[in-house]
Amino acid sequence: MPATISPETHPTILAFVDLPEGGLDDAGKGILSEASRLAGALQRGWGAICFGDAADLIFSEFAPYGASAVTVIESDVADFLEVQGKLLAAAVRDLGAKVLLLPHNDLGAALAPLVAAEIQGGIVTEAIAFERWEEGLKIRRPALGRQVAEARVWDGSVPLVLTMDTRVISAVVLPSMHRREPVVSVWSPEVLPGAAPTRIVERIPPDPQTVDVSEAEVIFAAGLGCNRQSFEQLQELARLLNVSLGVTRPVYDLGWTGFERMVGQTGRSVAPRFYLALGISGSMHHLGGIKDSKKIVAVNIDPKVPIFPNADEGFVADVSEVLPLLLKRVKSVMGGAA
Ligand SMILES: Cc1cc2nc3c(=O)[nH]c(=O)nc-3n(C[C@H](O)[C@H](O)[C@H](O)COP(=O)(O)OP(=O)(O)OC[C@H]3O[C@@H](n4cnc5c(N)ncnc54)[C@H](O)[C@@H]3O)c2cc1C
Repeated sequence: MPATISPETHPTILAFVDLPEGGLDDAGKGILSEASRLAGALQRGWGAICFGDAADLIFSEFAPYGASAVTVIESDVADFLEVQGKLLAAAVRDLGAKVLLLPHNDLGAALAPLVAAEIQGGIVTEAIAFERWEEGLKIRRPALGRQVAEARVWDGSVPLVLTMDTRVISAVVLPSMHRREPVVSVWSPEVLPGAAPTRIVERIPPDPQTVDVSEAEVIFAAGLGCNRQSFEQLQELARLLNVSLGVTRPVYDLGWTGFERMVGQTGRSVAPRFYLALGISGSMHHLGGIKDSKKIVAVNIDPKVPIFPNADEGFVADVSEVLPLLLKRVKSVMGGAA
């Protein structure tokens, strides 16, 4: 049975989670884990806040990421952005929260300025790192089209709305002995007066073939160990599996792709969930651009190349043998779809 919320007992850091399909997605799990870290840095309690119908939500999903309290905002008009902003702002005010943390995805990025304006608080967006600074925080974020990073300071005097770059957040699952079932509170506000002109009606995922490689979720990358035939097989594989293509500088120099596909120090920095490096030696200029990848798998004919100690999994193999086998396998699994 949900408890009634009370400002005295409620945490002062709130992590906003969107619940597509009623459950936590990667951004939700990641932001809960970041909230747990933030709470440690600020020595404050924290909890999650979300929209929905408490009866439909599975709260045990929150426990592995350390959420000990979940506030559910139940409202009939909560699918309108402006209303969501007002409701979240009202919750932040009522609960006396010091920080509202959101993932910098489409919803989080739209809600953050609405909430900050409503509560007259501070706002920092797309943070990539934070640390304690006196009574507040020192926050790093990219600036000037991601060419440089800047550090901003929040002194703790007014509430802060903070969005985190979804490419740097990752879920950290707590050992089972540290988990607790979260205390669930329901907040059902009166319908707020005022206009509700916009809402999200559809989410259209990016096309991996054309999306900026720095935003790509999965990247298959070719190095000089791929000859022209292997490169074309890799292109076909990437098309079939709907993943993005990346290349090293020497492959770009061959003119096989545009500059926007080049990964590394002079090319793009990437942070995909999965990076497959085929025939790539792993020079420091390339490794610098892929270090934030969640999982790196490398295939190289030479067991001594530096990509291997920097990869999560490595295979000593010839790409000209591996790629035809992979293609064959994918085509047979996809059957008619291929
Ligand atoms: C200032 C500066 C900036 C740079 N910026 C970038 C950058 O942004 N991005 C970038 O990528 N590079 C950059 N470079 C270049 C970088 O130093 C390396 O030269 C480059 O990354 C190497 O690319 P590679 O791994 O494709 O080629 P190589 O180093 O030549 O490696 C090819 C690999 O393929 C393997 N191989 C060969 N045949 C096969 C086979 N049949 N099957 C499997 N494996 C095989 C080999 O064992 C080898 O390890 C920069 C250099 C400088 C000086």
